[in-house]
Amino acid sequence: MTTSVDSFADLGLSDSLLKTLAEIGYESPSPIQAECIPVLLEGHDLIGMAQTGTGKTAAFALPLMEQIDVRLTKPQALILTPTRELAIQVAEALQSYAKNLPGFHVLPIYGGQSYTIQLKQLARGAHVIVGTPGRVMDHLERKTLNLDCLKTMVLDEADEMLRMGFIDDVEWILERTPEQHQTALFSATMPEQIRRVAQKYLVEPREIKIKAATATVAAIRQVYWQVSGMHKLDALTRILEVEEDFDAAIIFVRTKNATVELADKLAARGYAAAALNGDLNQQMRERVIEQLKSGALDIVIATDVAARGIDVPRVSHVVNYDIPYDTEAYVHRIGRTGRAGRTGNAILFVAPREIRMLRTIERATRQPIAPLTLPSRADVTNKRVADFKGKVAEVLNAEGLDFFANIVSQIAEEQDIGVEEVAAALCQMAQEGKPLQIPGEDPVARPAFRDERRPASFGERDSKPRFEDRGERPRFEGRGDKPRFEERSERPRFDDKPKRSAPSSDMVRYRIDVGRDHGVQVKDIVGAIANEAGIESRFIGRIGLYDESSTVELPAGMPAEAANALKRTRVRGVPINLRPDEGRPDAGGERTFKKKPYAER
Ligand code: AMP
Repeated sequence: MTTSVDSFADLGLSDSLLKTLAEIGYESPSPIQAECIPVLLEGHDLIGMAQTGTGKTAAFALPLMEQIDVRLTKPQALILTPTRELAIQVAEALQSYAKNLPGFHVLPIYGGQSYTIQLKQLARGAHVIVGTPGRVMDHLERKTLNLDCLKTMVLDEADEMLRMGFIDDVEWILERTPEQHQTALFSATMPEQIRRVAQKYLVEPREIKIKAATATVAAIRQVYWQVSGMHKLDALTRILEVEEDFDAAIIFVRTKNATVELADKLAARGYAAAALNGDLNQQMRERVIEQLKSGALDIVIATDVAARGIDVPRVSHVVNYDIPYDTEAYVHRIGRTGRAGRTGNAILFVAPREIRMLRTIERATRQPIAPLTLPSRADVTNKRVADFKGKVAEVLNAEGLDFFANIVSQIAEEQDIGVEEVAAALCQMAQEGKPLQIPGEDPVARPAFRDERRPASFGERDSKPRFEDRGERPRFEGRGDKPRFEERSERPRFDDKPKRSAPSSDMVRYRIDVGRDHGVQVKDIVGAIANEAGIESRFIGRIGLYDESSTVELPAGMPAEAANALKRTRVRGVPINLRPDEGRPDAGGERTFKKKPYAER
């Protein structure tokens, strides 16, 4: 990895936070953490160029938490995020880091959630607010959120906020924060407008960018599986089972707790697997590696640091069960296979929101990483049957089967059945506890790389943080056997002429009570709808802007919950009152827009 810092203790964090990190199994800081944490602890403003998966949340959250005075029940830090899912996720991360900080409260506030609940929670007092720009603006305007005691402000995924049309809101909020505070801005890319915001509102910021190391990894077959529709553990065992030339594997996860958990689960499924993490002393570590070499172990589940320098030629596969923090870690990990002139295989698990990291890795290694189709139940069965036949063939080649052949004939005669039936019974006995077929159904394949993060449910301050994958349920599902919103094959065309033509059959046109006279732009409408109803911006169809109202096309079959959320939504402070559009356009004339190319997320 890029960083030479191996321990959180070297970064200047307090004992209480160090204890928490050890408890949740963070073994060493990721590169972005190693670089950002000391700078933020020193009080500097910071621009961090980092994407999801790099560990950026802890990079800003940990220093920010060191500044919090728990006795003062006023917001001391504000984190702005582009989406409610991210707001919840960041709030959960902070809550988990606050394990040993009694009385600490973090509150996510986002569109779509009832104001009553939020007002109650705000009144109770939170130390950190994590919110989407629109809702934070609303609360500032209503004076239900007071930033007088603000010490830290974080703009997370600033480029996403720009893309979703929130940058004016972000600036509006920045204008209203107290003079004296630290600001950290994180963004995967640095478009001109973000740079301008940084120049205007950050004071002598330190800029931190994680290097994308380039490397050639010629002898290694690289594939990825998009995490979806099936639990990662089930997918892993399926994949390992059908992989050709499987001999031994190193599986990489992020935390030491995860090494132990996964090792236990694989062992329970019959694999010779063990954990390798920083808690093992040198002797134990060497023992595990020796066992992998000798074949006493087939799978080692490791953290990055623990796996450094492992050289075991029989490692045929490296599995990135958790995506690495950066390209250098990736190259390092996959270098554990394909050793001593053999070909290696690298399998990468990528959650939908980690797609950007996948592309970064491809660029850095200058090689495409091919998608891997998850083996079906039939594939696994075929492989098991082939292996079984292979074993039988081996035994058939061996000497001395006469004794057993005789027993088979006797059974057939005594039972008055054919030898085939006897053989079938023997196969059944041989496979007892190791079925050749897997029960159940194959999961339905999902389209690649949709943002499928789960809708909000954090809300309550004492809800348990979720550390695992954020689930695979799309946030906006169709009813019955209607397709899910995100699975529409026929997407709305955004570049059609948007006059008063009828919307396509899978789109419904709605009217909203905001228009040009309210200073509203298309991006405001897209941003509000995307956030409040959880509809991805690219599924929002044509928008017609009039003087006093506007029309917007949305996919048909909108669930009641989303429709209700949209009825209450405000744009520029005005309730939009969304309803199906039956009337004629108003007199102000329609302005037409090409749909902005909102990037896929
Ligand atoms: P982020 O890039 O902030 O979304 O973090 C991605 C994932 O990495 C989250 O699941 C974090 O809990 C995890 N993570 C962050 N930092 C560390 C660390 N130093 N050690 C292990 N896991 C980490």
